[in-house]
Amino acid sequence: MPESAASAHTVAQALARGSGMSLQRLDVQLLLLQALGRSDAGRAWLLAHDTDPVPDAPMQAFVQLCRRRADGEPLAYLVGIKEFFGLSLHVDPRVLVPRPDTETLVEWALQTLAGLAPAPRVLDLGTGSGAIALAIQHARPDARVTAIDASAQALAVAQANAQRLGLPVAFRHGSWLQGQNEIWDLIVSNPPYVAEGDPHLAALTHEPRAALVATGQGLDDLRAIVEQAPPHLAPGGRLLLEHGHDQAGAVRALLAAHGYSDVTSRKDLAGIERCSGGIRPAQR
Ligand code: GLN
Repeated sequence: MPESAASAHTVAQALARGSGMSLQRLDVQLLLLQALGRSDAGRAWLLAHDTDPVPDAPMQAFVQLCRRRADGEPLAYLVGIKEFFGLSLHVDPRVLVPRPDTETLVEWALQTLAGLAPAPRVLDLGTGSGAIALAIQHARPDARVTAIDASAQALAVAQANAQRLGLPVAFRHGSWLQGQNEIWDLIVSNPPYVAEGDPHLAALTHEPRAALVATGQGLDDLRAIVEQAPPHLAPGGRLLLEHGHDQAGAVRALLAAHGYSDVTSRKDLAGIERCSGGIRPAQR
């Protein structure tokens, strides 16, 4: 039966149909709101209108969204929005979907900045959607935040987010710190760190591979940043990196081998060592 014949669904029936596609209830609810053009109304609207008819066109759009979700597309791409650190970010397949794990890095960055003089200089490497840079700028309006990405497409997403949120982050196109000649008080990054061939990648095929995968067991980009950062850090300046669930030891070893001091790691909400960092090596 073609979808167009499936007219006269109520809101409740549409939700049941989505749930029947073995999707999570929350996802189904958000996709129906999206299809109805009522994303801002919230899920309570669905409860209050459960006997309302869902016209043909939004019903078809809803079924299509449910199919894409069932096929593994991130919910954030389907609804176009992801909440991160209290900010509403627009996301699409040009950028990685910001993860809650990355809030650990932002919290650590903000604690680091709390101990510094006003107007600290902050750099976010591989900014993607702009999540980290924008969260820091939002929490610290006095900070001078720069964000770099090697993907012009990602920068367009990040810049649009900054504009929408009215946050004055400065964006630049570039590969890690190559060609940069400034000094920052804090450098943060959530670089690609998934190893090529990691079975985990099978579930991430809708996100940009360049934002996820690094050579050298996932460590080559982390290593490049550890190597390049020292001349760009102010005395006492700190480098903070997000990495994979099993990379904390390796990243601490890299930092130590390059002379960083106070090398430590932080756990994410799941209790996994998710970020590591250190203070700029002493000048030789
Ligand atoms: N945390 C992401 C994931 O494993 C990876 C992000 C990254 O490579 N920086 O799904």
